[in-house]
Amino acid sequence: MRITSITPYLMAAGAPSETAWSAGGISSGGSRHWCFVRIETDAGISGVGEGSGWPRMVAAGIADLATVLIGEDPRNIDRLWHRMFVSQMGHGQTGTPGSGAMAAIDMALWDITAKSLGVPVWQLLGGKFRDRVRCYVHASSTELAVAAVAEGYGALKAGNIRTAVDKVAALREAVGRDIDIAVDLHGPPWLNAPDAIAIARALEPYDLLFLEEALAPEDLAGLRRLRSATDLPLAAGERSALLWGYRQLIGEGLVDIVQPDMGRVGISQMRKIAVLAEANFVSVAPHSGTLGPIAEYAAIHLLAAIPNALIHERFRTDWEGRARVITQPLEIVDGHMVVPDRPGLGVDIVLDEIAKHPPDTNIAAHTEKYLSAYEDGTCGEALYFQPRRHRARLRRDG
Ligand SMILES: [Mg+2]
Repeated sequence: MRITSITPYLMAAGAPSETAWSAGGISSGGSRHWCFVRIETDAGISGVGEGSGWPRMVAAGIADLATVLIGEDPRNIDRLWHRMFVSQMGHGQTGTPGSGAMAAIDMALWDITAKSLGVPVWQLLGGKFRDRVRCYVHASSTELAVAAVAEGYGALKAGNIRTAVDKVAALREAVGRDIDIAVDLHGPPWLNAPDAIAIARALEPYDLLFLEEALAPEDLAGLRRLRSATDLPLAAGERSALLWGYRQLIGEGLVDIVQPDMGRVGISQMRKIAVLAEANFVSVAPHSGTLGPIAEYAAIHLLAAIPNALIHERFRTDWEGRARVITQPLEIVDGHMVVPDRPGLGVDIVLDEIAKHPPDTNIAAHTEKYLSAYEDGTCGEALYFQPRRHRARLRRDG
């Protein structure tokens, strides 16, 4: 079997209705794009994938990488991954757009290989540990939290640094102690280690499932300080790409939960990250907020097949177009995603629907909502690192 074509399909996607989770909608709004890929073979078997980490750049990367893969046997997945990686040496190799392009292609290669054998992808990954994968949904208010619990979800996530402690107190009060609650601080660089420690200690009484990105992903020294100062389970890793991006987080015991994004790393890399995590007693809870439905499918196959799968992220009410760009939405039962049994990933993309949503500018606009994620008084500057001014607000009363 040989690869005959590799085609990226880029589209603008709508925002989920629950955008308050992302401290002002940074991850959604006008900047949300999805980049799918379809790979065709001379055996008549095709596969699909999805890459993230700046989808417009990913689409360009896929088109370039196609030139080194046409004519190759798609079943030599890991070798082809290395071939793609080496072909980016002149570009510095380690960034998320390049990794996202490889992730999309990698997913499609797993899809093709599994289809050629007539088995689901999870079968190739070692078989199933579970028939359903637990998921958490975003709850920006107690009303949404209560509605999610009534629908059967047993885990929720809240964000927004300035109100995190008050919000978690209200959520715990509203849903009781049998529901898991996670908090995402989105790692703003102005939140330094002493700030993160203060917030973590204030959150300790609420028994969080995890505290996510309490510090900027670059601040590993700060994460070390936080680690030794709190007994809250810590999670991080959504912005990293490639196995080596997780080496320190996992190997140095800086987190309890690692959160690779399937569209940024792909099945092959996430499988290796999961093994590294297993060896260090770390669980896996993939990031998925900005992703489309194909990467979600890939993540469910992987999570079905590893022992240390904790939970997967999803929106209870995502953009309505999400269901139309694929042939079959994932089945959700009692707060769990049902692992598909169909050959390959078990899903295809719908090209006519994708074509209805042409891509546009693909970065977060500096709107008022975006800037509101920054601290009062400094937001107009929109700097990545800036001094933090109002420490007392971080702990209580917004
Ligand atoms: Mg996050």
